[in-house]
Amino acid sequence: MCVLRDLNLQKRLKERFFRYVAVESQSREGADEVPSSPGQWTLARLLMCDLEALGLQGIAINEHCVVQAHLPARLHGSRKNVPSIGFVCHLDTVDVGLSPEIKPVLIRNYQGGDICQNREKHLYISVKEHPELMDYIGEDIIVSDGTSVLGADNKAAIANVMTVLEILREYPELEHGDLYVAFVPDEEIGLLGSREIDFDKFPVDYAYTIDSCALGEVVYETFNAASAELRIRGISAHPMSSKNTLVNPVMVAVDFINLLNRAETPEHTEGREGYIWVTGVRADMLNCTVSLNIRDHDRRAYEARKKYLEEALKITKLRHPKAEIELEIHDVYGNIADAVTPENRKCIDYLYRALEELQIPAKTIAMRGGTDGSYISTRGILTPNYFTGAHNFHSRCEFWPMGSAEKSCLTTLKLIELAARKD
Ligand SMILES: [Zn+2]
Repeated sequence: MCVLRDLNLQKRLKERFFRYVAVESQSREGADEVPSSPGQWTLARLLMCDLEALGLQGIAINEHCVVQAHLPARLHGSRKNVPSIGFVCHLDTVDVGLSPEIKPVLIRNYQGGDICQNREKHLYISVKEHPELMDYIGEDIIVSDGTSVLGADNKAAIANVMTVLEILREYPELEHGDLYVAFVPDEEIGLLGSREIDFDKFPVDYAYTIDSCALGEVVYETFNAASAELRIRGISAHPMSSKNTLVNPVMVAVDFINLLNRAETPEHTEGREGYIWVTGVRADMLNCTVSLNIRDHDRRAYEARKKYLEEALKITKLRHPKAEIELEIHDVYGNIADAVTPENRKCIDYLYRALEELQIPAKTIAMRGGTDGSYISTRGILTPNYFTGAHNFHSRCEFWPMGSAEKSCLTTLKLIELAARKD
């Protein structure tokens, strides 16, 4: 990639990022359709115009606001077997109760100390709470004005991919295999958009998301995830005739919950330890519903946790024969690592090799959560995840140092180059 000089990546990324965060695209939990909010349509249409300008082919949007496009391979000589790569980014920004409107602030040449986001409202990102700021002295840093998240999650990724497409267009000497992009809605509310990708038009050997935080982060292990709902119907009665008749669904629920292991909850686990999380209980005198999340990196342990809930159900039924109790469990996403095969694992190797060639120390994380790749990988497309360079996703203190942004973009270029390189 010696041809690449003076790419002005930081300037390009900044400009694109500012355009993309100007479109409000918070997703809305509990909406009954995908996409969950109209802003995601607006952003999707803007991106379609940009893809058009960048010369992509087969640009399409479906009824769920998934934008897909293809950049045909450009290979000099008669090389074959160059892998097709997918890049997946999400359109939505998380709703954590902050403003949907994002007003980014550019801090030029950060000199250390607290960053003032908003003088009027006295909002700062303090070094005391975020000492990692000090790693970025001398860099330009983008922050929000403190009333919202910054939205680098995931518009930093969209800016990254679009910038790479722009560079590939400007430098015809750069070789690459077939590239496919997919911009999907509603990642933040349960990886809903990636389910709506038209996989027939996404014939890739593997894909990447750029949806992790600090410089060098690599994620190819995520949770296996299921959600469960226990529904109890008791028997109501007036206290004058309730003895030996009334069945209180709340007490049934308490008995069920008491069968769960108190040491295996989110508040008592870390790293690769799995858990069952009672996320909610809704009840009245007749009905009670308990919601649960089941999470584990290890597939067998994950299946065992689901089995355990079934056993707890049996015991609860024996104790409360007059209550009607049912349990519904469904898988939500899987561990990316379970999709690794001897053929596709090269995409993880390329990621480490890219970081090595760019002299970025790799930081591998077993993520206690999921990414779009956790769903896409269950479809047989291995989809690891790497850093945007931003910190503090989902917080008003989210910040994006431009040096890291540039390196994230160079990583994308390098991944494309490595896949097309003659070995
Ligand atoms: Zn994200």
